[in-house]
Amino acid sequence: MRRFEIASIAPTESCCTPTDAEEGCGCGSTAQRSVVACPACGCHGTTVNTTTPSSTLRAIHRSSVREEGVYTFCESPNCPVVYYHSDQQQNPGNTGMLFTVEQLINRVTVKDDSQKTPLCYCFKVLKGEALDEIARTGSVDIIALMNRRRRPGQECFCEISNPRGDCCTEDIRNWLTAQGLDVDRNEDLCGC
Ligand SMILES: [Zn+2]
Repeated sequence: MRRFEIASIAPTESCCTPTDAEEGCGCGSTAQRSVVACPACGCHGTTVNTTTPSSTLRAIHRSSVREEGVYTFCESPNCPVVYYHSDQQQNPGNTGMLFTVEQLINRVTVKDDSQKTPLCYCFKVLKGEALDEIARTGSVDIIALMNRRRRPGQECFCEISNPRGDCCTEDIRNWLTAQGLDVDRNEDLCGC
């Protein structure tokens, strides 16, 4: 298993730039910028409810999740930390203070560019599938890809499926833009 040298991760410039992610897609995004900085990269991520790490971590790590305190999702692309706890600075050695990418069930959209990384966690749209469609047609209909696996009327459940604990729309928009595609900022990509 790959081990990360947490101390060696330098803060990235882009991670602390506020994005319009907080505006959300209209489906009830509640992302809150954390007052606590990530111990590995120094950036302030967004807080998540305990239900998010409790659902997105691999089963063997779930018992380490603390009920008290607050977890923050680190969204820095180059940082291996996914969740850090509000007491991390005071008790860095305690269990449940930090969770890193290899402890999660799924790869994290903003941290992993492999083909198997999900763009949408609820309805399992992978980067590889989207890239295939882009290669074939020059564009991609993310909602159509979601709908292949979505039962009629099925709601999304981002809080327990997406490591971010929130809607995937903003991450998908940023990813599409990074692929060189024109993105309508007003279009609701998650369909929720
Ligand atoms: Zn970080």
